[in-house]
Amino acid sequence: MSSAKTLDGKGAGEAIRELLRPRIAAFRVASGRSPGLGILLAGNDGGSQIYVRNKVHACEELGIVVDLRRLSEDSTVEQVTSVVNSLNRDESIDAILVQSPLPAGMGAEAEKEVFNVIDPGKDVDGFCAVNVGRLAQNRSTLAPATPSGIIELLDRSKIQIQGAHAVIIGRSDIVGKPMAMLMLHRHATVTICHSRTQDLAMVTSRADILISAVGHPGLVIPKFVKPGSTVIDVGTTRVTDRRQVSAIFGEESPRLEVLDRRGAVVVGDVHPGVASVAGAVTPVPGGVGPLTIAMLLSNTVKAAETRLT
Ligand code: NAD
Repeated sequence: MSSAKTLDGKGAGEAIRELLRPRIAAFRVASGRSPGLGILLAGNDGGSQIYVRNKVHACEELGIVVDLRRLSEDSTVEQVTSVVNSLNRDESIDAILVQSPLPAGMGAEAEKEVFNVIDPGKDVDGFCAVNVGRLAQNRSTLAPATPSGIIELLDRSKIQIQGAHAVIIGRSDIVGKPMAMLMLHRHATVTICHSRTQDLAMVTSRADILISAVGHPGLVIPKFVKPGSTVIDVGTTRVTDRRQVSAIFGEESPRLEVLDRRGAVVVGDVHPGVASVAGAVTPVPGGVGPLTIAMLLSNTVKAAETRLT
């Protein structure tokens, strides 16, 4: 039985995009060109191909020009760095995105090395060391898209952040850590949990706002959740195992029909049973995902406008 309100990430994402249209038109008048986003996609990761396709489509729909550079699975850090440098120098490129993950063969430190080569003014994901530092100092202009999108959704849904106890599950550089910073800057009391946290349910069940960014389908079950709280599901895991989907959603779930048709379904970290305890939840799909893309577009426009001034 569901009592929680569903937070509409898709609708919020569309509203954010609409606000960008006049800004893009004004940029075009002032600069004589459209905002430009350079995307570097190295390797054959299936998820990355889909994410990049969606990002390119969203940019084109809004009139942002995309320069997509592809490199093979066996490319080197030097090759990736060289493409980033050419995008840094390109006057028609306002923003640069290096799709994560880079091929495993490049080594564990490759992403950090490559992110740090991106011109901080064009670093649309806010992942380079300068922008991570600016975020820590609360002087950020380009903050990571997924956590920024979550703040937008909370604000648009009139969920109070100031004074709330926010618990974040996951400590990645792209979601967990920047999320904690943004919540802290908005005066939440912040707790970060991770794979070695003891008694996770005890910690999370004290959250007014619980944000799960793990990638473990159905991890967050009702006992993890404080009654009436807000639960944000960042997890997006492609599941192909019918038994796993059935165990989480039940044998009658329409998701099984989708799985049978498409061969896979995307599943979040939050178990559907949480809807009977929480006050508000985000769906997967249709929650955080569309906001991430909207904030990428927003950061691209922001980077373009800043370069004009
Ligand atoms: P990551 O793999 O880098 O980090 C996962 C984190 O989860 C780690 O910090 C780890 O300590 C923690 N963790 C793992 N198992 C745990 C457990 N049992 N209990 C508590 N913590 C545990 O992941 P990421 O890049 O931050 O992504 C997390 C999820 O969010 C993935 O499913 C990813 O696909 C999704 N994601 C979605 C969007 C979106 O736009 N919707 C954007 C980024 C990431």
